[in-house]
Amino acid sequence: MGVIHNCLIIGSGPAGYTAAIYAARAGMNPVLYTGKEPGGQLMITTDVENYPGYPDGIMGPMMMEQFQKQAERFGTEIKYEVIDKVDFSGSVHKVSTESGEEVLAHTVIISTGASAKWLGLESERRLMNQGVSACAVCDGFFFKGTEVAVVGGGDTAAEEASYLAKLCPMVHLFVRRDEMRASKIMQNRVINTKNIKVYWNTEAEEILGREEVEGVRIINNKTGNKQVIPIKGFFTAIGHKPNTDIFKDWLDMDESGYLMNLPDSAKTKIPGVFVSGDAQDNVYRQAVTAAGTGCMAALDAERYLAAKEII
Ligand code: NDP
Repeated sequence: MGVIHNCLIIGSGPAGYTAAIYAARAGMNPVLYTGKEPGGQLMITTDVENYPGYPDGIMGPMMMEQFQKQAERFGTEIKYEVIDKVDFSGSVHKVSTESGEEVLAHTVIISTGASAKWLGLESERRLMNQGVSACAVCDGFFFKGTEVAVVGGGDTAAEEASYLAKLCPMVHLFVRRDEMRASKIMQNRVINTKNIKVYWNTEAEEILGREEVEGVRIINNKTGNKQVIPIKGFFTAIGHKPNTDIFKDWLDMDESGYLMNLPDSAKTKIPGVFVSGDAQDNVYRQAVTAAGTGCMAALDAERYLAAKEII
């Protein structure tokens, strides 16, 4: 058998790096695999103003650089590779990299995160961070006092629209069917908020603007009528997808693919496998909550190793 790592972390967002900082300081010599998008979702965010400790805010990519530095300072080994297979059948866990290498570890901390779903419009990609966002709590503040649009009909869209309505004079909400999927209570909140205007059977055809968002062209998919609405912010809120496909044969998930942890811990049903961050959280999804659960996962992993007298 080759080298068995004490702690292998999959993912490099706030959860993964926080797990690494704790694991490294506890003498667990963690190895962290960054995955396809090193730094995770914060790499596509501009200013982060709600992470405590940065009174003047910080750019998302800069914050992740600092997370990484802090993890490396205590000896975390960073691998810029993607894990594409896991085998949790034995007492030592096996993971495989995309390049085919097999790596062994006593504990695995899953911090693979989630990805926002996008509409797939060219203009959405082009104006990303120039008015296009998938997170009202992160970016809504920048559009205070301006008109904005939200796309989606689920609880996330309802929540984002309600949040933005506290900051913006008008929130235009585009729902592709003639009803919303959101819970009744959230729907009522939306309908009863004066400055949220719901457009039924409506899809965004193109986000307008060269350097930044200036408007959106929408189409009513029943009548074919098109309309241009001037807005400054465009929020896509059509759901997130947790990056958990590789675990489906091993761990329990809810119907959307979020991993289930055991109550009041970061443990999963497999001893030595822990989960943190957005891969297990479809409710809060904040950098600070992800970091908190990364810490929990590392502490649980440390106790596991100590109980087995591995460290
Ligand atoms: P959902 O999958 O529940 O809803 C996605 C919404 O986006 C649907 O209305 C869907 O339309 C619409 N949609 C999907 N693709 C497109 C597209 N290409 N163009 C236009 N619209 C599109 O995702 P959510 O993120 O809203 O919620 C995920 C889970 O998290 C849910 O279980 C939800 O209840 C939960 N949640 C709970 C919250 C709370 O309790 N406070 C807050 C946020 C989320 P259609 O209906 O036509 O498919």
